[in-house]
Amino acid sequence: MRKKNYISEPSREIPIVEEDDVIVCGGGPAGICAAIAAARRGLKTRLIESQGCLGGILTSGMMSNIIDYSNKKGIIQEIISGLEKMGAKGPRCVFDIESAKYFLEKICMEAGVAIRLHTSVTAAIKNERNMIEAIVTESKSGREAWKAKVFIDCTGDGDLAALAGCGFDVGREENGEVQPMSMSALIYGTKASDIGEFLRRGSDSGHKDQLLKALEKTGNKSSYSKPTLFQLNDEAFLFMANHEYNVPADNAEAISKAEISGRAEIRRHIETLKSSGNEWKDLKIGATSSYIGVREGRRIHGLYKITVKDMEEGKEHPDTVCKSTFSVDIHSTNQEKHKGYSNEGHTVKPYDIPLRALITKDVNNLMTAGRCISGDFYAHASYRVVGNAAAMGEAAGYCAALAAKMNCMPREVPWTEIAKILDKEEAKKYAST
Ligand SMILES: Cc1cc2nc3c(=O)[nH]c(=O)nc-3n(C[C@H](O)[C@H](O)[C@H](O)COP(=O)(O)OP(=O)(O)OC[C@H]3O[C@@H](n4cnc5c(N)ncnc54)[C@H](O)[C@@H]3O)c2cc1C
Repeated sequence: MRKKNYISEPSREIPIVEEDDVIVCGGGPAGICAAIAAARRGLKTRLIESQGCLGGILTSGMMSNIIDYSNKKGIIQEIISGLEKMGAKGPRCVFDIESAKYFLEKICMEAGVAIRLHTSVTAAIKNERNMIEAIVTESKSGREAWKAKVFIDCTGDGDLAALAGCGFDVGREENGEVQPMSMSALIYGTKASDIGEFLRRGSDSGHKDQLLKALEKTGNKSSYSKPTLFQLNDEAFLFMANHEYNVPADNAEAISKAEISGRAEIRRHIETLKSSGNEWKDLKIGATSSYIGVREGRRIHGLYKITVKDMEEGKEHPDTVCKSTFSVDIHSTNQEKHKGYSNEGHTVKPYDIPLRALITKDVNNLMTAGRCISGDFYAHASYRVVGNAAAMGEAAGYCAALAAKMNCMPREVPWTEIAKILDKEEAKKYAST
């Protein structure tokens, strides 16, 4: 009998459009590195991305500022130096977004990755061995099924893992509150030399306080009390001055409202700055991000869960894929308390991300990489940045490639084989320079 307010979908056949060794869902920093790593091992690799370009937060999210990369080697360094050679690197580690869109496609294609854009993963079909046999996607081509030996969920929100029935956690353990989403924008019409005091240049936050003062001068209110301007070049800047609080990453209606509200706030801010004249008088919005940036979605249960204790103790693991060194960066989960960010008293000693945190507990041939790996609320607030996501993606790609080659599950791949590829001794050398 049909449930009230439900409609039954008639069953239908879905074409199997491809059979791959490795399929990576989500083409953000983690997904790009995962796909490149698997393809470079000679595996037939498909990367499926819901937006019209690769890069995730670096491009669609318009926040191309890479953090926690300097102690990493591998693909993230290739990406940084490739963009630098194109003249696309600004001060600090901020990149020109259009150049990043082009370069990320190029580096993936050169590795042999087959890219499908504008396509979302919407279902997972499992077999009796608790393995994903195929995923189903939706796009302009309708519904399509894709088979692979191993899948890697790099959707940031853990969409594929949730669809496949994996257990997960969201937000704070005690009340489920999540970090806010943020709309970013590319702005221009002023010069770096004229607005130096407002630009993010060092680690102190004086420039943010200055910017907040300028934004709120005429009664305009900012939802984020630490607004930031990143310099892209002499005349273009990334503007992050919006918080949309407690928006669930799996609720399209709530996300739509957050996008609309965030975009309107950015316009208000720019109008306010313009009206103050002088160095701001010709300010313009080049573009707002094509989607609102999501800091926090599902944290998928893995064979290991990274905890706040691991982070505070600087825990080491035999199967480390990288060391996270970034601080605990919790953007306010409750605007009644504050509208900024805090480490809530938790400090970080560089700690290991073990491969086991990337291998899902509940589905045999599924891995995760990036911000949806297995960890608690506080650990996630530290490891979620781009440098770590990229290093996790690379390691997951190698592990998936070996599993596909050896016809085994990711959890059965001997760590020594992955370590050989990651060339750990050299990694250590790199870290100490
Ligand atoms: C506003 C904001 C500012 C930030 N600032 C910084 C910063 O300055 N520096 C830094 O290093 N980090 C920053 N971060 C954190 C960092 O951006 C992310 O945590 C990091 O991008 C994680 O990489 P990822 O690959 O796991 O996820 P994402 O970058 O989120 O990529 C996920 C990809 O999967 C795609 N996708 C999602 N669902 C599906 C689906 N169902 N099917 C197919 N594709 C799908 C998305 O379109 C996206 O391309 C910021 C985050 C936000 C939100």
